[in-house]
Amino acid sequence: MGPLEKLQLLAQAAAYEPAEDVGLTGTRFPTAAAPAEMLGCIHYAATPKGRIPLLKTLVSSACERDCTYCPFRSGRDFRRETFTPDDLAGLFLQLYRADLVQGIFLSSGLVGGGPRTQDRIIDTATLLRKRYGFSGYMHLKVMPGAERDQVAATMALADRVSVNLEGPNARRLSFLAPHKHFSEELVQRLQWIHELREAQGGRGPSTTTQFVVGAAGESDAELLLTTEFFYRRQRMARAYFSSFHPVSDTPLEGLPPSSPEREMRLYQASFLLRDYGFTAEELPFDTKGNLPLKEDPKVAWAQEHLSQTPVELNHAPREQLLRVPGVGIKGVEQILEARRKGTLCDLSQLRKLGLPVQRVAPYILLDGKQPARQLQLWAVG
Ligand code: SF4
Repeated sequence: MGPLEKLQLLAQAAAYEPAEDVGLTGTRFPTAAAPAEMLGCIHYAATPKGRIPLLKTLVSSACERDCTYCPFRSGRDFRRETFTPDDLAGLFLQLYRADLVQGIFLSSGLVGGGPRTQDRIIDTATLLRKRYGFSGYMHLKVMPGAERDQVAATMALADRVSVNLEGPNARRLSFLAPHKHFSEELVQRLQWIHELREAQGGRGPSTTTQFVVGAAGESDAELLLTTEFFYRRQRMARAYFSSFHPVSDTPLEGLPPSSPEREMRLYQASFLLRDYGFTAEELPFDTKGNLPLKEDPKVAWAQEHLSQTPVELNHAPREQLLRVPGVGIKGVEQILEARRKGTLCDLSQLRKLGLPVQRVAPYILLDGKQPARQLQLWAVG
């Protein structure tokens, strides 16, 4: 099998791993037309270095583990491929020089244990950085069971590293991955990454994780409490939530897929934790610990907490402004800037700031008055 054919197989396999994707169909090429055989291998990605075309690939689609949801689990019958570090680094360089990619995401199935698999990722990345002088974006996976010095070596090469937790706690993980150890194999690696970054004064690659949603009976509260822990304690950059989709010839092939709405609500809630000052306990969970599917969690929270006590936009502190639906981080800055110039007393002023007045109006006061009434009058007019 030729290297390009192999890349097609391994890169398509990597599509299961979220890594800064703008969208799996969002592939675009900045300066050159991509050959048809490369479609599906290159993903247009939002990275800390900007939006770039990213090659996402596995080093190997062989795996010795038997995770119950995973298409690469051992014993499943399909064609497996493995790159040598030399072949993969050389192939990436060709694509980079052809202006088809500007960065790489490397993951792998586990072959010969975590340390040996991690070595192949490190060797590939080292060739790119040291032999070929590639200085662009690299997101490298830290494998379950990788050793501490390997974690340090991976961090020294990468712009971003990630450890997939898959489940929010040991109980849920045992259903998804019977032979993975939540604390010893996964959380421990995230803790090392955090310690190593702290030892460098907070410098170093950012960290992400991924959860599989909807296969293990986990609630949104379980997922978001764990997410909150890593955001607060380890300054994790982002948690990814991947809706479960049943794969044939796996133990979970008979389970229904998880809804994309649930995935979207989890992302919205995780941004409330990371960027908007919410705690997981404040989120609008139902009695089973799940978010409402039909409502943005910020709106659901505001309906309960701000409808009777709206926020006065002229005086509220930044953290209170951030709680108003329709007001994002940029919107808060615009409100604060407008306040320095005068009093906000009319919805048309908010409209000029680019704020979605229909969403904002029910939860605010403008100079002591409820603009929701003004909105009703506009609607009548
Ligand atoms: S370790 Fe588990 S999740 Fe990872 S590739 Fe192997 S079977 Fe899939």
